[in-house]
Amino acid sequence: MSSVEKFLSFDEEQEIVQAIIKAERNTSGEIRVHIERTTEISHFDRALEVFGKLKMDNTKQQNAVLIYIAVDDHQFVIYGDKGINEVVPDNFWEGTKNTMQNLFKRGEFKQGIIKGVLKAGEELKEHFPWNADDKDELPNEVSKG
Ligand code: CA
Ligand code: CA
Repeated sequence: MSSVEKFLSFDEEQEIVQAIIKAERNTSGEIRVHIERTTEISHFDRALEVFGKLKMDNTKQQNAVLIYIAVDDHQFVIYGDKGINEVVPDNFWEGTKNTMQNLFKRGEFKQGIIKGVLKAGEELKEHFPWNADDKDELPNEVSKG
């Protein structure tokens, strides 16, 4: 079993998918989660790379956010697209980051991701409220590298 599979069971993964669906009911923003073992480049650069690979820069309002996790490195990055950065303060993701970090420290990984996803949705809601013609622009499943 790889460390990514150990990190998250199938059922836990499904719970995260449900959290993404729930979070996206509040906002037009798109949330994705990518989990992998490790990376050889900086975690920020890797998050950026994954963001591009998953074509997350293709949303209409450029308001997708990626929660990138490198399991073996004990690192994660929250990376939001241009459309978000243009309208939010620099410390916009601090709250989401802290929420996740606190739960990760206690070894509550699934809970940390779920709370992070929901918090990201709440934060995005203010700037990018959900509207009736909203589309689900990006798949809600967890991406694994
Ligand atoms: Ca959407
Ligand atoms: Ca989606």
